[in-house]
Amino acid sequence: MNNRQLFLQHLAQTTDFPLLIEIEKAEGVYMYGPEGKKYLDLISGIGVSNVGHRHPKVIAAIQNQLDKYLHLMVYGEYVQSPQTLLAKALCETLPDQLDNVYLVNSGSEAVEGALKLAKRYTNRREIISCVNAYHGSSQGALSVGGNEIFKRAYRPLLPGVKNIVYGSFYQLDEITEDTAAVIIETIQGEAGIKVACKEYFQALRKKCNETGTLLILDEIQAGFGRTGKFWAFEHFDIQPDILVCAKGMGGGMPIGAFIANQKLMAVFKNNPLLGHITTFGGHPVSSAASLATIEVIKEENLLDQVEKKAHLFRDLLVHPMIKSIRNKGLMMAVEFESFEVLKPIIDSAIEKGVITDWFLFCDDAMRIAPPLIISEEQIREACQIILQAIEENQS
Ligand code: PMP
Repeated sequence: MNNRQLFLQHLAQTTDFPLLIEIEKAEGVYMYGPEGKKYLDLISGIGVSNVGHRHPKVIAAIQNQLDKYLHLMVYGEYVQSPQTLLAKALCETLPDQLDNVYLVNSGSEAVEGALKLAKRYTNRREIISCVNAYHGSSQGALSVGGNEIFKRAYRPLLPGVKNIVYGSFYQLDEITEDTAAVIIETIQGEAGIKVACKEYFQALRKKCNETGTLLILDEIQAGFGRTGKFWAFEHFDIQPDILVCAKGMGGGMPIGAFIANQKLMAVFKNNPLLGHITTFGGHPVSSAASLATIEVIKEENLLDQVEKKAHLFRDLLVHPMIKSIRNKGLMMAVEFESFEVLKPIIDSAIEKGVITDWFLFCDDAMRIAPPLIISEEQIREACQIILQAIEENQS
């Protein structure tokens, strides 16, 4: 059997339409298939490879850690410098009140930890989240997700979850003194890149303050420079009580975190009510890679270039079949008439060596979320190929 046959035979499938692209090596913005077929990666493994594939600094940090130790002990017992230095570096990117980091392995796990923390701290049971939100696939994260089709088969899920419409001011009145937390993606990703306005976030923050509700911002997709600020909430002049991140955080290695202040996080220490425990959370190799990723974002001034690059995409992707482009920095959705129109365009672009896809809850829009290191020349090349793919699939 070849690799593709093995994939279909032995690897559990998650969708009816796996992209089925075989990759042997990746470097920077490029990925290479067997026989050297070269692809320009416009989706970064869904917002993961923000500093590009195999960034030399990230690889060096991983190699350096490999020479020292791998796993030593469950999270939070031994003093391990990759974790402590990462926690410090993360806090330095954040407002003073976010000074305590809990490291986990993935986005879903970070969401689980944040929800538990909010319930435990407030002693309230209700969680409010948004329609069409995606927070992960584990049961708690799924429970606060905002798409009934995804949830239906797994009910009963967590009780006490209410959905409100992202960006809708009047629904903020749903937040009351019974609400433990509002969990919200600062920029909605899988809904097809929806961006609420600054006034909305400020009203949301105010309502949370008035009711003693914790605000959990999910920046698993929008964080780590993707929108042109290190954290997307910086665009809106607000601060979360709990921040969750993952994806781009590890520069290609699995890691996530939920971040709050010492006072909140302290409730997890109060025995005998067990807090949160993870064996592999903040794995030393992933932590070392994550620290290097933060340094790369700073040293290479990646944030400063995001807006200009996003503009270039917007200027170049002009075609009667493109209905609109929604974006915050390099988190973009290019809207077409329908999935039936979009799918052949994506297939042709992949054939021509440019990888894009669509969104979980928005299948009529093309996802564009390239590594932040993409050059202007590479953006021009990618857009030319996308426009060619559109031309060849005119309906
Ligand atoms: N929240 C958001 C906003 C996400 O985009 C994702 C992943 N697509 C998750 C949570 C879940 O992260 P993970 O797949 O690492 O569990």
